[in-house]
Amino acid sequence: MPTPPDQASDADDIQAPLVFQCATCATIVGDSFAWVAAVEDLNCVVLNGTGSGTIALGSATTTVDSGPDAGCTYCLLTCTECANPLGKFYQSTTTQWDIVRNSYTLDVSMVKTYELGRTKAPEPTSRSCDSLMDFYSTASVTRSITQMKKMMCVFNDRLERIEKQLE
Ligand SMILES: [Zn+2]
Repeated sequence: MPTPPDQASDADDIQAPLVFQCATCATIVGDSFAWVAAVEDLNCVVLNGTGSGTIALGSATTTVDSGPDAGCTYCLLTCTECANPLGKFYQSTTTQWDIVRNSYTLDVSMVKTYELGRTKAPEPTSRSCDSLMDFYSTASVTRSITQMKKMMCVFNDRLERIEKQLE
């Protein structure tokens, strides 16, 4: 499993894959499996792919006239859900910024990150909450998933039978 970025300045305690979300509406826009780099000077993370259809690529090309990426051209990336800007898709760059060309660069101030596995089960408030605690336990979740899978197999079999009858 790809591990998240060693380039990120504050990545020392990141242990699990990251999910990137639009900072405004929390739509998932990408994850660290598409990680290329974190670029501190541009305040962005660079991904080679994004969440399915949640980022829109602007049609207008803008040339940057000042700042660290002056001379680069980009199209704006926006969230398809709320239309807020998320970052840039650099079409051409100066040699210094080869790393961001033709990749999705998400502005870290415009995305939220969620590290997988950070959720903890709620603490039970009393002994009578044992059942609740059990409900949230990993074992219970695994059981539910197994049951769901079995159910889906059953549905799938039924669907196949019905489809055959219809043919
Ligand atoms: Zn959004």
